[in-house]
Amino acid sequence: MFFSWLKKRRRRRILAEPVPPAWPAILQEHFDAHVALTPSQRSRLVDDLRVFIAEKEWEGCGGLELTDDMRVTIAAHACRMILGLDINYFSLVQTILVYPAGYHAREEVPMGGGVVMQRDSDRLGEAHRRGPVVLSWDDVLEAARNPGRGENLVYHEFAHKLDMLNGEADGIPPIDDGKLIERWLKVLPAELDSLRRASAAGRETLLDPYGAENEAEFFAVASECFFDLPQDLRARHPRLYAILGEFYRQDPAA
Ligand SMILES: [Zn+2]
Repeated sequence: MFFSWLKKRRRRRILAEPVPPAWPAILQEHFDAHVALTPSQRSRLVDDLRVFIAEKEWEGCGGLELTDDMRVTIAAHACRMILGLDINYFSLVQTILVYPAGYHAREEVPMGGGVVMQRDSDRLGEAHRRGPVVLSWDDVLEAARNPGRGENLVYHEFAHKLDMLNGEADGIPPIDDGKLIERWLKVLPAELDSLRRASAAGRETLLDPYGAENEAEFFAVASECFFDLPQDLRARHPRLYAILGEFYRQDPAA
């Protein structure tokens, strides 16, 4: 209780400070969705991102010097996702690591029979339940400058973090409404199945075929499309759009 009182006081102090003068221009340049938000969403976003930026630990990796431009761009996209949710500024995210571009990571691949193979993998970003969100700035910027392609690394990795709020990433974020969860368990698997069939048949898909990998990737890919290409998602996958809209409590295609 004491902790939360301190936190509240600290947040009040953050919000009492004026918005740094350079930030509105950064939002205008790198956060396309800004114009589509209602005035009340816009002012909540600016408040949320100030708290988000102040409370997270930010670290530039691979020689990257972090700037306000980077922090504001990343925070705006992340906070946009939770405008309709009451989830305490992505409480699972403590640290955000930013590389200049794609990076290499060492990963362990279980081969069966207790054998584990080590290999290098090239990555653009990642999210771990008890770890940081890692992002390639090149790719964050590319999506920020060219919205409307249904691809956005920030939406993707932070969707994983939402998914992880109730355990390992499994494509089911915390949903209180029993009826909504019932429909979620029908719609999401059916949509995943149709993405799998379409990508196996080599058909063009609106959703990134990477979403066919598993339930968690499907939710992350569908969230990217929901925020970055909402009208197309609504037209081509109305049930998926509607259920994501109910979860996020937003209607970005409107
Ligand atoms: Zn992913």
